Amino acid sequence: MYADVILPLPLSGTYTYAVPDEMQSRIGRGFRVTVPFGRRKYYTAIVTKLHRQPPGNFTVKEIRSLTDSAPVVTGQQLDLWEWISFYYLSSPGDVFKAALPAPMTPADLQPGFIPKSETHLRITPASTAAATPGRARKQQVLLDEIAHFLNETGRESISRKEIKELRSYSPAVLNGLLQKKILHTHTVEASRLRREITPIRHPFPLSEEQQKALDAVRNSFSDRQTVLLHGVTSSGKTEIYIHLIRQHLSEGKQTLYLLPEIALTTQLTQRLQAVFGDRIGIYHSGIDEHERTEIWLKMLSETPYEIILGVRSSLFLPFRRLGLVIVDEEHETAYRQSEPSPRYHARDTALMLARISGAKTLLGSATPSVESYYNARAGKYGLVTLNERFGKIAPPLIRLENTRELRLRKKMKTALSPALTEEISQALENGEQVILFRNRRGFAPVIECTACAWTPKCKHCDVTLTWHKKAHKLICHHCSATIPLPAECPCCRGGELKSLGAGTEQLEEEVSRLFPGAETGRMDGDTVRSRDSYGRLIGDFQENRIRILIGTQMISKGLDFGNVRVVGIIAADSLLNYPDFRSHERGFQLITQAAGRAGRRDRQGTVIIQTADPEQPVYRFVTRNDYAGFYHSQIAERELFNYPPFTRLISIVLKHKDEQIAEAGAASLAQLLKQSLGSRVLGPGKPVISRIRQQNIREILLKIENQFSPARARELIKSAESRFRENNRFKQVLLYYNVDWV
Ligand code: ADP
Ligand code: ZN
Ligand code: ZN
Repeated sequence: MYADVILPLPLSGTYTYAVPDEMQSRIGRGFRVTVPFGRRKYYTAIVTKLHRQPPGNFTVKEIRSLTDSAPVVTGQQLDLWEWISFYYLSSPGDVFKAALPAPMTPADLQPGFIPKSETHLRITPASTAAATPGRARKQQVLLDEIAHFLNETGRESISRKEIKELRSYSPAVLNGLLQKKILHTHTVEASRLRREITPIRHPFPLSEEQQKALDAVRNSFSDRQTVLLHGVTSSGKTEIYIHLIRQHLSEGKQTLYLLPEIALTTQLTQRLQAVFGDRIGIYHSGIDEHERTEIWLKMLSETPYEIILGVRSSLFLPFRRLGLVIVDEEHETAYRQSEPSPRYHARDTALMLARISGAKTLLGSATPSVESYYNARAGKYGLVTLNERFGKIAPPLIRLENTRELRLRKKMKTALSPALTEEISQALENGEQVILFRNRRGFAPVIECTACAWTPKCKHCDVTLTWHKKAHKLICHHCSATIPLPAECPCCRGGELKSLGAGTEQLEEEVSRLFPGAETGRMDGDTVRSRDSYGRLIGDFQENRIRILIGTQMISKGLDFGNVRVVGIIAADSLLNYPDFRSHERGFQLITQAAGRAGRRDRQGTVIIQTADPEQPVYRFVTRNDYAGFYHSQIAERELFNYPPFTRLISIVLKHKDEQIAEAGAASLAQLLKQSLGSRVLGPGKPVISRIRQQNIREILLKIENQFSPARARELIKSAESRFRENNRFKQVLLYYNVDWV
């Protein structure tokens, strides 16, 4: 018997091993095995297929050992892995590595998963009768308390941690009991998972509008696998999800609730646990790997979590009875994994997961992606719209401030326009809060010499360095390289160094100066290094300890704050100026989402967008809350220029330290591709940032018509790639694919 296995390595296919006789009755698909690979190395691999065909003309190695007595990866999961590897042109090994928590796949026979252990104490049976410790009254009291605890809980032992909670506990008393051998200790395997979280409320009754939307979603699911819920910010989409989840729970079905970012899970965990208690498991890369392993094993057990809240990686958990997948904020670009391989899009993969599992998918957003809205309008997805905020609160009033004109008229003396300054003062006076959104961290994005126009550049990347004032450093936002701020211009040694534009750090400084009494908080990649610091900031803002919150797009997403009256969007134009056909879409989404943080509970909010280019059509759509109008403008453009969803895009990225090799390699690969794919091949070209971490980057773009078979395209691309690799000069060129999201 032979087994095909996936190794956790970036190899292109599966590998075949011989199954030792004694193992044959115990092995199966989805089991882990240890196999030798390469020179004296062992890996944990996953069996994908068992068969009797001896492989071609080489000697087969034998499986060394079998790890499991039952599969740890289900057949449906293997199907999903195969699809990802096929569709996103990535190796099965990369998918495998992304899917399983690392402790489940130890390399080189190392120990993998380490169960957590706890010290427990037991009352020694023989001694209990004669247990009167006589003189030691305190010991007797503690002993009685322990006996009572065991009686109450029906358990045989108590953990050391639990003993410490007892009223009569003291280390000396416990030690006395241990020394007299009235208590004895032993080690037990403990769970890292939190249990016994009690729900504290029922789902809120829905408003009439919400109920209609929920009914429409259910209705739509009767004949469609996927529904898009387009609900304006603060319409109460989350409450609708809660009702749907409850319905699936009552039908014995599991729900996967996907969020684009770990940061958002904190607030949502609270909201969902309030209703579902410990039926919900939280899964993302911020969670300890051993705990993730326990969650995986629990999902395989008889009592799996019924709801999983997580980010991209939770797609890979073993679900047995998946009934519903919710993709919240489905438009978010963070759903796309760009590094490392597999480079996949979690929303699109979720749709495939649901299809494989026979589950339904609900996509939710206030600003749906052009692709999803197109699919909904075309009838491929159901479409449900919720136009009203919960509590019938008016949508925020959105105003533009023309900063160019204000500057010309010398009315703009700080980063904040007079109107925004005024709105903030008023909000503060009323005890309300403010959010200021600036898409750049650091103090100043650009430093320039007034005499010779020199600007500091990164040594390893072709980008300018950002000035971080407090750290007194210039930092590359691409590779984190750092240099001290020079005292004078290193180029002409004469001119003065001037900063252009204001990042979040400078904005905070100015705001503190303008509103000296108001507590400020800053949320960006510099201040939020850990989930804890993020949680603290959110908590401080939620509880009004911070009055003005300044931040990058981190603050614009899906958070629910009740007391925010004013949202200011500083330098909005910087959101639109990317050379990318999706840049206006992203700008529209970011601004609308940020605006949606204003006036969520009782009063209408005000949003001020500061722009030097108020004629931009995007702003017109944003200020009128006109999603449909925006969508139509975008889809017309996409059709005109033949962009998705009217075609499929694949970008091929080549990287090499030597610029000439990168250049020649890209030209050679493009040539090979053109032989089979003709005019579908565009480039090669230099991306806007053509060097990062000393790697020179070139790009080839494939525009493939929708009717062209993906399988055929893959075959042609892969064959061009292998011919490209035949040239020794290009053996070391790093090459990868971005599918759909280029
Ligand atoms: P969205 O996800 O659409 O932005 P949320 O679900 O966060 O909106 O709802 C906005 C606010 O309104 C939240 O504070 C939420 O608790 C509240 N809310 C929404 N629906 C209800 C309801 N039916 N009953 C009570 N409160 C609700
Ligand atoms: Zn100079
Ligand atoms: Zn750099």
